Amino acid sequence: MRENGRGVRFALKWEYGRRRRGKGHRRLILLVILLLAALVVAAYVLMRSGMLPQPWSATRAVPGEGGDKAAEARTSQQDEYVESQFLMNTYVSIRAFGAGAQAAVGAAFDEMRRVEGLMSRFVPTSDISRVNQAAGADPVRVSDETFMLLEKAQECSQLSGGAFDITIGPVVDAWGFGTDSPHVPDQGALAKATALVNFRAVGLDPVAKTARLAVPGMSIDLGGIAKGYAGDRAAAVLREHGVEHALIDAGGNIVAVGTRPDGSPWHIGIRDPRGTSPTDTIGPVVEVRDRAVVTSGDYERFFMEGRRRYHHIFDPKTGMPATRAESATVIARDSLDADMLSTAIFVLGPVEGMKMLERLDGVAGMVVGADGKMTFSPGYPGR
Ligand code: AMP
Ligand code: MG
Repeated sequence: MRENGRGVRFALKWEYGRRRRGKGHRRLILLVILLLAALVVAAYVLMRSGMLPQPWSATRAVPGEGGDKAAEARTSQQDEYVESQFLMNTYVSIRAFGAGAQAAVGAAFDEMRRVEGLMSRFVPTSDISRVNQAAGADPVRVSDETFMLLEKAQECSQLSGGAFDITIGPVVDAWGFGTDSPHVPDQGALAKATALVNFRAVGLDPVAKTARLAVPGMSIDLGGIAKGYAGDRAAAVLREHGVEHALIDAGGNIVAVGTRPDGSPWHIGIRDPRGTSPTDTIGPVVEVRDRAVVTSGDYERFFMEGRRRYHHIFDPKTGMPATRAESATVIARDSLDADMLSTAIFVLGPVEGMKMLERLDGVAGMVVGADGKMTFSPGYPGR
């Protein structure tokens, strides 16, 4: 009934307009068109002068010169540059503010690619590939950076009682993660691969800076830590270029450089592991400045068979995807620490994971358990 009534009223109005359309009316339409044209020209002039943002451009480069302080502050807020690139097997996006933002972001991406070239086991000439190729044979000299990372990873393995283990390579391969066709491996192949996983069989010589895997077939996979280190390096390069406000997002590894341009903290939403869209969040929005917020989740790389989810973070003891968590988030000063800890506490689950975090200073975390419930460490922001 109500719908019909509105329809009738609308029809009457339209009819009324049609009957009255005469000479005067045409003049009115001309006036409106002229007014609209004047508005478009004015908006264009304002955009060219930088007083209005250009909606079609991700970069708003406004010249840095200008006398008074207020004008400078306004300029630096508008000087935003955003770029995304595919690297380290994920989409990395960097958003930076400041006069030299574009050049700084370019240099940050170059730095991340350099790290990938040292540490990816899919780059045949990388330090890690050379160590893997020599498994069971001679020690291999690696760069200082790779050596530092290997030492850090060993520390994390000790701390987590082996839940974090970079010698997970054979298990990742058995499941076919890193290829186009991940699959459930046969029992025998998985048992063989799992038997090769043993962080204690990595020999590190801190004087010669060499690494050696004790058993042929062993392989190191830095997938749980290298992106974190690359994030730290990218942040350092941005700072070297004078960038004071930036956000690096490498597929769940977020590094906040400084604050937002207006001095307020960055707001980071944690992805809901069972959300329908990547923008669905869970728990409190995290407010940070100069911090890394890193999440490991079973939604990053997975396949379903029947109703079961098989994903890319493994329990080194069984060679099976870890089942105690849906996601694990760690906030730390360095994204390297946050990255390896989030992988470790994902495997450990909420109870053991929190115990591990409580033994460490300067870190906070949240685990979404297999039941979807959130567990927070003391000091988690917003709690
Ligand atoms: P992340 O997304 O940082 O949690 O890292 C997951 C990646 O780390 C996987 O794709 C593997 O390359 C590697 N990985 C899987 N399980 C483990 C584990 N238990 N310890 C260390 N690295 C792992
Ligand atoms: Mg990790």
